[in-house]
Amino acid sequence: MIKVCKFGGTSMADGINMRRVADIVLGDPARRFVVVSAPGKRFGGDTKITDLLYEAHRELVGTGTLGKAYKKVCSRFCSIVDELHLSFEIEKVLEETAAEIVRENSEPFTASRGEYLAARVMAALLNVPFVDARDVVKFDGGGRFDPASYALVRDALKGKKRAVVAGFYGSDAAGRVRTFSRGGSDISGSVVARAVSADVYENWTDVSGFLACDPRIVQSPAAIRELSYKELRELSYMGANVLHSESIFPVREADITIHIKNTFRPEDEGTLIFPTEKYLARTERPRTVTGVAGKKNFTVIHIEKSLMNAEIGFTYKIMEVLLRHKISFEHLPSGIDTMSLVIDSEQLAGGMLELLCDDIAKAVSPDMMHIFKDVALIAVVGHGMAKSVGTSARLFSAIAKAGVNVRMIDQGSSELNIIVGVDNCNYERTVRAVYEEFFRE
Ligand code: ASP
Repeated sequence: MIKVCKFGGTSMADGINMRRVADIVLGDPARRFVVVSAPGKRFGGDTKITDLLYEAHRELVGTGTLGKAYKKVCSRFCSIVDELHLSFEIEKVLEETAAEIVRENSEPFTASRGEYLAARVMAALLNVPFVDARDVVKFDGGGRFDPASYALVRDALKGKKRAVVAGFYGSDAAGRVRTFSRGGSDISGSVVARAVSADVYENWTDVSGFLACDPRIVQSPAAIRELSYKELRELSYMGANVLHSESIFPVREADITIHIKNTFRPEDEGTLIFPTEKYLARTERPRTVTGVAGKKNFTVIHIEKSLMNAEIGFTYKIMEVLLRHKISFEHLPSGIDTMSLVIDSEQLAGGMLELLCDDIAKAVSPDMMHIFKDVALIAVVGHGMAKSVGTSARLFSAIAKAGVNVRMIDQGSSELNIIVGVDNCNYERTVRAVYEEFFRE
């Protein structure tokens, strides 16, 4: 049995927490490969090491030298090593790192040093080899993850009983350090799990897994004990941010189960995320709805034209306008004479909305166009919905009972989700109503 364990920023925030991490790793011989984030916040108002490093890079660009922010990074790492009573030459390593940061003079390189230093300290604490992600995690010319990394990671870890790999970064073909997007150590963990064909990818964080709903909106929502990759993708894309939404792709290719665990409550069950087939096979009757998630600030461009269904190339002409303005859309619900484009409002700032509407009008001469701004999307997710008759009736009567007007509906063809668009101001009320309907049963 091989487990790859990734520990997030809070788990690595100080010496006491790192000791906790070491105890967790050493508590199970299957926990062989460890991937770490940079130290995160120790308390509300604290600054993550990665944010300090981005600031250090700005200081470097502005003044030509490292300033206050890098000093703060140094003092965080020195106190971590102190707290751990570790014989590790942290001052020397920090000095070498500073010289490298100045020499490389690149934002991703500077940002990556949080994970680099954290992984070196953790490797010293566990007394196991450190594996530099720069040598084994590769990005292609376009900055996308390169699957050639799997073989490199596998070779680097071959024959090692245990090892620590730095999360978040890798390098391109020229050897320059690149990073994943923020929170990307989750992806690194997934890459390592796939590379060594792990049985389980344990993702250790500061919560006991996924909740069926945002706890800032519903008090003490139910915990989700099990879910499928597909449900995870829907929920994390819609804002349930326990795990980076791209981290499922590497493990999905190898059918590896993800286990979300809480470093601070290791006895809690956490959430198991299974490959979809496996999940459906083991869950006799999945519950109707697994979770409810959502996001605010979308714009809906609603287009009406009689006989749209018979007009060849109608959608194509609209897509051409979007392509020309480099705008992506999230959903495209349509009827025989209607079509709605649901777009993240951020992309439409600075006059883009007006420009887009003008060009769509020119391209397809609609009978009517309506714009709904400030729309929130709520995703109701669950494999169980496909099997239970009356789910949408329940959903929409709960929303109606809450007095909320629905602006848009989209149901994925897999019947895995129903997306409901409501005004931003009704977002919380709708989430609460939906949650009450399906979870307080
Ligand atoms: N340290 C990086 C960040 O703060 C990556 C990670 O923690 O996953 O985004």
